[in-house]
Amino acid sequence: MSNLDLRPTPTRCGNASATGPVRDLLTGRQVPLGESTVVRRLLPNLGRRMVGAWCFVDHYGPDDIADEPGMQVPPHPHTGLQTVSWLHQGEVLHRDSLGSLQTVRPRELGLMTSGRAISHSEESPRPHARYLHGAQLWVALPDAHRRTAPTFEHHPDLPHVTAAGLDARLILGELDGTRSPGTTYSPLVGADLTLRDGAEHRLPLEPGFEYAVLAMTGSVDVDGVRVEPGSMLYLGCGRRELPLLARSDSSLLLLGGEPFEEQIVMWWNFIGRTDEEIRQAREAWMEGAEFGEVHGYDGTRLAAPALPPVPLKPRGRAR
Ligand code: MN
Repeated sequence: MSNLDLRPTPTRCGNASATGPVRDLLTGRQVPLGESTVVRRLLPNLGRRMVGAWCFVDHYGPDDIADEPGMQVPPHPHTGLQTVSWLHQGEVLHRDSLGSLQTVRPRELGLMTSGRAISHSEESPRPHARYLHGAQLWVALPDAHRRTAPTFEHHPDLPHVTAAGLDARLILGELDGTRSPGTTYSPLVGADLTLRDGAEHRLPLEPGFEYAVLAMTGSVDVDGVRVEPGSMLYLGCGRRELPLLARSDSSLLLLGGEPFEEQIVMWWNFIGRTDEEIRQAREAWMEGAEFGEVHGYDGTRLAAPALPPVPLKPRGRAR
């Protein structure tokens, strides 16, 4: 007898929507944010909504804000998610309805868990550094944890993994046995990779996770695909390692996680499960209820946009 293995067991990566390794280059869509900032939105993207529980990725800068106000995002609400403020240059002053007042600097973790309800503002302090460069990332909370109490964490000294020509700082989750102190609610990883020109490395990965990399600076061949700042390469699942070759001094964000199988409704700054929930959250914000008060921001809070006339539909991780 022999096992001809005509139907080898596929790598378990999510349910029906399992994919193996892929190399899918996603470009960002330019979105104005406030009056003086334009961001590149990588997630949600036309072909992909999530990578693990990572459900929102904006890349901004480097922008010369020497004579500009820089980032000025007035008080606004969140539900059902965590936000990660991640900077490579500049600083962001975070205020929230828990009373947090925190300046977040490059490669420090500012992690806000909205749980059921929080509001916050983000601004470039005055005075501020000349350049602003970073990413705004959201993590969807699984149903079992999405009504948890809101919290804000600031972790200025994150652990890192080093190898020849590579430094990987753990934003969230674990990579190669090193773990970030940031609180997580689903199996995922976020890491900031700094590569020296010419560095060649095979990064160990979790085959049950799906992954993507976001290029921040420089130029890197990721599994043979050149990625440049502002673009994201979706890598799929089933990988045990990821070949990296730096073509210049470079930096990348690695984002990954167990495929998020729950369908979610994401609208404006809210993540829920039904149209009704989102409508209630919007109404509560507009009435000044539930989301608390952000003190000290010089300006008025954001009004929610109008809802679409048709009900919002729950959606999965790929379109
Ligand atoms: Mn926000």
